[in-house]
Amino acid sequence: MIEIRFHGRGGQGAVTASRVLAIAAFLEGHHSQSIPMYGTERRGAPVTAFVRIGEKSRMVRSLVHEPDYVVILDPLLRNTVNVTEGLKPGATIIINSAAPPQEIEFMQQYKVATVDATKVALETIGRPITNTAILGAFAKATGEVKLESLIEAVKKEMSGRMADTNIKAVEKAYNSTIVGENKVVKELKKVAAAPANSRADWRTFRPVVDPAKCTGCQICWTYCPEHSINMVDKKSTIDYIYCKGCGVCAEECPTKAIAMVMESEKKEG
Ligand code: SF4
Ligand code: SF4
Repeated sequence: MIEIRFHGRGGQGAVTASRVLAIAAFLEGHHSQSIPMYGTERRGAPVTAFVRIGEKSRMVRSLVHEPDYVVILDPLLRNTVNVTEGLKPGATIIINSAAPPQEIEFMQQYKVATVDATKVALETIGRPITNTAILGAFAKATGEVKLESLIEAVKKEMSGRMADTNIKAVEKAYNSTIVGENKVVKELKKVAAAPANSRADWRTFRPVVDPAKCTGCQICWTYCPEHSINMVDKKSTIDYIYCKGCGVCAEECPTKAIAMVMESEKKEG
């Protein structure tokens, strides 16, 4: 299941964006929910909307508190609204901005994608209504829905010239979105994906097995206090989710097949 939070202002179409996205996901065979949350209902006031996409059995009926994605229709909202509240580590922010992702302050903690949705909207719709443009950016940055599905969803939600111009906005934004990602985010994502009882972040060093030296004697398997060694094809294999990096295996290995390597020196992956 994925959860998305939209931040916009009254008149920018955040609620419509959430509905179009939910329809697009539905057209792809998923279950989806679009949940609007209105504050003071007036033009320019902050508006929040949510989308949940996933299997029917895992759907809950609540507001989204820990989103996987945040979509910001108005860049100035981040001055007054806590747009990263509850956002999962390494999550993605899609923001309407003419600046590249590396100039967005969230870049150190999150994956950031930017699109000048206001410019796209003015060029296609003729008004600064950024909702469909930002959806094009969402599709490009996340791959959670296909561009074609979004276009079909716009056709279901709108008609005539309005549909035509909004489809152009979706396509133009899709093609002009810049997606940035940094190394810190990749690491945060790995930690976020790990189970709650993972020992991965305890380690300073990690054991690395040289299969050519491993005789399959199982001594390391016997001594490992976390039961995080498996024998695969008679070779020692480390489960890095549960390995705490104590080094007992390396000390006990009679053939010195296990080396303790600094976590920061390991290859990514
Ligand atoms: S103790 Fe060394 S040789 Fe024996 S299984 Fe473990 S890694 Fe292989
Ligand atoms: S470093 Fe410690 S926890 Fe990790 S595999 Fe070796 S013995 Fe087990």
